[in-house]
Amino acid sequence: MLDLPHPTPDAPTADCFALAKALSGVHFIGGRYVPARSGKTFAVVNPATGAEVARAAEGDSADVDAAVLNAAEAQKAWAKVPARKRGALVHACAAAIRTHVDELGRLIALETGKALRTESRVEANVVADVFEFFGGLGSELKGESVPFAPNVLSVTVREPLGVVGAIIPWNVPMLLMALKVAPALVAGNSVVVKSAEEAPLAVLRICEIMNRILPPGVFNMVSGFGPECGAPLVAHPKVRKVTFTGSVETGKIVAKAAAEKLVPVTLELGGKSPMIVFADCDFEKTVSGALTSMRFTRQGQSCTAASRIYVERPIFDRFVAEMKKAVDAMVMGDPLDEKTDIGTIVSEGQLEKVRAYIAEGTATPGATAHVCSAMPTDPALKKGLFIQPVIFTGLDNSSRLVREEIFGPVTVIQPFDDPETVLAQANDSEYGLAASLWTNNLKVGLDLAHRLEAGLVQINQNLVVQANLSYGGVKSSGLGKEASLEAMLEHFTHKKTIMVNMA
Ligand code: ADP
Repeated sequence: MLDLPHPTPDAPTADCFALAKALSGVHFIGGRYVPARSGKTFAVVNPATGAEVARAAEGDSADVDAAVLNAAEAQKAWAKVPARKRGALVHACAAAIRTHVDELGRLIALETGKALRTESRVEANVVADVFEFFGGLGSELKGESVPFAPNVLSVTVREPLGVVGAIIPWNVPMLLMALKVAPALVAGNSVVVKSAEEAPLAVLRICEIMNRILPPGVFNMVSGFGPECGAPLVAHPKVRKVTFTGSVETGKIVAKAAAEKLVPVTLELGGKSPMIVFADCDFEKTVSGALTSMRFTRQGQSCTAASRIYVERPIFDRFVAEMKKAVDAMVMGDPLDEKTDIGTIVSEGQLEKVRAYIAEGTATPGATAHVCSAMPTDPALKKGLFIQPVIFTGLDNSSRLVREEIFGPVTVIQPFDDPETVLAQANDSEYGLAASLWTNNLKVGLDLAHRLEAGLVQINQNLVVQANLSYGGVKSSGLGKEASLEAMLEHFTHKKTIMVNMA
């Protein structure tokens, strides 16, 4: 295998531009930085300026094959490391990541355009938290004894699946990678991650940091495009589990390819999460909850964004006005500036998609587009992929803006008159990832929580994914759970039954 010395610093650095350059042109395979076998690279662009900040290795099936073969070899020894020891090593990785939180925050802000203070540094901290959580779960990889017959000892044991292929998107790449890698490793699997083409750098740096602690080959990372690099990973015969986060369309392609090999697959796909606001809610808290729920600080690029909000009619006008005022007060600007609340959209393609939805909503008869906040004025940002958040009123459930995942700072607020009607509207969706209810009547709230078709329902809060809470959707939002003990046991191990006849 090619083996280049690589100029990344061991110590955390605040210079994300230099670090991006140092991370250029390589995968991480078998404990080493290696370029793509083809020698090809592609541009990593800072969406706040349009400038190229790095080149990423453009992986294809040859690179994937090298990564999977390394992972398969390393997994044999890794599976024999006692589970608690594996957990301790993953825990040590969490501690190492913590020392790099600021650096990783800067790097992810640079490649995704997410604001450092409100989003990117927060993500880096949650990543450390996720590795810490799973690192403590080694001793939970337990089996059971089964009462089969008095003279037959019958037990189950949890065994790793082998090599896990993990495919991640660009919106929260470090966290979504961690939700896959941490449980997979603690359970005794090895991993090959295919990073998202828009955001390959911060995950690569985490892979390097963790490889200072883990045995080589246990955690590998390749970058590249979906069909050329992701598809061969899913199809590779030695990949025995596939875990994917991304769009519904690609999720179906991945599930079909995994089905060809009959390997299990976890899918975390899109969402169109309803937020239901009753007139008896704590008004101020709910308005500020709507800002967090809609993930405006991430320009709405979240599968749990509250992109359809239903507000009980008596407080509808006041709610829309106060929410607009609150979004107006958010500062859009350079993602690396600590004063910035809202950064950019990740890519030009994504920006065009969002603009098309806004144009369609604006052109719909009866609709009003409440355009919020202000574009940055700094000339250095004039090529940045900024867009003003838009709150729509006057659209209903028949609109594409209410039915489809926009992945942008666009939400639609509709009035409602009674719980049954709003429940039907909320459930009238292809998706079922998350939902939130805002009311002081917990009897009504709990009743609706039980009847909402969603994997996660929160009342009077709408937090992002948290370690220890099962996360995953129903309907087109996906298959399987992440982030919890159950996720590790059910999705990264299989249960073997062993029987000993002692008669
Ligand atoms: P998004 O719209 O968020 O980019 P995608 O589902 O297209 O969502 O991409 C999510 C991830 O899936 C990315 O890492 C992408 O490269 C990868 N991907 C895209 N197409 C395929 C494919 N055919 N097989 C495997 N992975 C793919």
